[in-house]
Amino acid sequence: MCGIFGYVSRDPRGASVVLEGLRFLEYRGYDSWGIAVVGDQEILSQKATGKIAGAHTDLPPSAVALGHTRWATHGGVTYANAHPHLGCGRRFALIHNGIVENHQALRLELRSDHVFSSQTDTEVLVHLLEEEIESASDLTKALLAVFRRVEGLSAVAVVDAYTSEVAVAKNGSPVALGWANDGVYLASDANALIEHTRRIAFLEDGQAAGLSSNGVRLFEARSGHELDLDWCEVTWDAQKAGLNGYAHFMDKEIHEQPRVVQEIAVEKQDRARDLASLISRARDVYLIGCGSAHHAALSGRYMLSEVAGRGSTCAVASEMSLVYPQLSPESLVIALSQSGETIDVLDAVKGARERGATVAALVNSEGSALDRLADLSILLNCGPERCVLATKSYTAQLAVLQLTAHALSFDVERGTDELRNAALRLQELLDRDSTRRVIDEVARRTGDHEHLFILGRHRNYPLALEAALKIKEVSYMHAEGFAAGELKHGVIALVTPGTPCFILAPDSDFRREALAAAAEVRARGAFTVGFSPEDNADFDITIKTTDFASAPYEIAGASQLLAYRLALLRGCDPDKPRNLAKSVTVR
Ligand code: GLU
Repeated sequence: MCGIFGYVSRDPRGASVVLEGLRFLEYRGYDSWGIAVVGDQEILSQKATGKIAGAHTDLPPSAVALGHTRWATHGGVTYANAHPHLGCGRRFALIHNGIVENHQALRLELRSDHVFSSQTDTEVLVHLLEEEIESASDLTKALLAVFRRVEGLSAVAVVDAYTSEVAVAKNGSPVALGWANDGVYLASDANALIEHTRRIAFLEDGQAAGLSSNGVRLFEARSGHELDLDWCEVTWDAQKAGLNGYAHFMDKEIHEQPRVVQEIAVEKQDRARDLASLISRARDVYLIGCGSAHHAALSGRYMLSEVAGRGSTCAVASEMSLVYPQLSPESLVIALSQSGETIDVLDAVKGARERGATVAALVNSEGSALDRLADLSILLNCGPERCVLATKSYTAQLAVLQLTAHALSFDVERGTDELRNAALRLQELLDRDSTRRVIDEVARRTGDHEHLFILGRHRNYPLALEAALKIKEVSYMHAEGFAAGELKHGVIALVTPGTPCFILAPDSDFRREALAAAAEVRARGAFTVGFSPEDNADFDITIKTTDFASAPYEIAGASQLLAYRLALLRGCDPDKPRNLAKSVTVR
């Protein structure tokens, strides 16, 4: 969600370096973008709505530049609302990630002569800065004075055309600094810096930094005290990915899943044992996440129970109020997040920490806030996920939890065998021509419907939720996943002739109930698609699955492919669905 990229150097290619940086951050989701450079004692800026992919910059040479990709929260997607915001003069350009919750109150505190040119919550900050600079000794001090007045979670960066300095402050949203021979960088994702430098420092909440040609200074925001900067050499690979011949990242990332599951099978045994040991020591265990990660967490709850007989609770991270009263130092919270920057997850984890709980993380982004915060962090290592939708990070989370469940019953090798097999089965499913034919047919026959229902029971219930989420997110169809047992308690009222109903019936345990659900919706004229090892008279179409330990991955892969085909059929952009952001850093 929103990207910030800055460059303070002696290199006059500032604007194009920043434009490249913003392109890297595209995956976070955005609707408009802008860049500011320092001209002759004034800011020059370029802004646009829409995509940055084919954009060029016409800004003049400048060694200092700041850029932003905006994900609108306050004010429409317009040129005027795109960042940077310049205030009344052309001295400052300010960019912001997050929400200024008290922007209306702050606006009333301004002198009356300020002229606003956008509808954003952000713009008030640059006008406040114009006032604070009058009594501050430098740009960073002025920004801190502004920052202390702001309510809500934000990262703010500003460039001063008089001094060519940049200041940045953060509370909630991520900011990493990079130290290179050619200058200093800042970005909302350390991975965006790695092609320039591996010398990285992460700004913590409540900190601010001043960047100039003389170097970087770090401050504690509340007191203004200077702090030591802790540079570290990061060793991970730059998370950059090309399309490798695929038309979209979504398709490419779906096809990377067999490799991801296979790698987890062999490489994460020790980490699974570590997590299992935390689980066995804990009095109570909570699995938390948002969106797809929440669905993986719910599957994890079934796995822990079925494989190891271990009870746990699963919660949506933004609904932790239900969990907090039960937390104690004997509790374990397992937080799942692709980006490791999802604010709802970070809030939940911090709240859990305050109550003394141990925190384990399943996270894809190394160096992210969650990775750094957790007592035990298991990196998913599934490589960059450039499509806004979670695909391989979701199956990676499933795989780590499956391995952990087996480690908890002292048979991690069995988990490895199951996952190796699942990786093969998933590869076969994705490779089969018949899969694509069947999925194309299902897409054609369902794509113009308003509603689509996915029914799953027990361990298949979270898979139904996730399949529905994928379809919703990318094709904008209304898809709902249900516990199949709930069908008769309400959902069936929505089934009319032709309504697409998918029935997850991959395993013998719950097959009878699943087939009963298929028969019930079919009796009302539904168009039924079974995810099952066998055809059945109550399935109009069958998408073939194999053994039950592989089925979650097969169902995930097939429903992701279906979501992808539906998106294309309905003219939607699979990699950048409307209104969605990859890393949700606002509440
Ligand atoms: N709240 C600000 C706006 O709507 C910043 C949004 C963002 O984080 O991109 O302009």
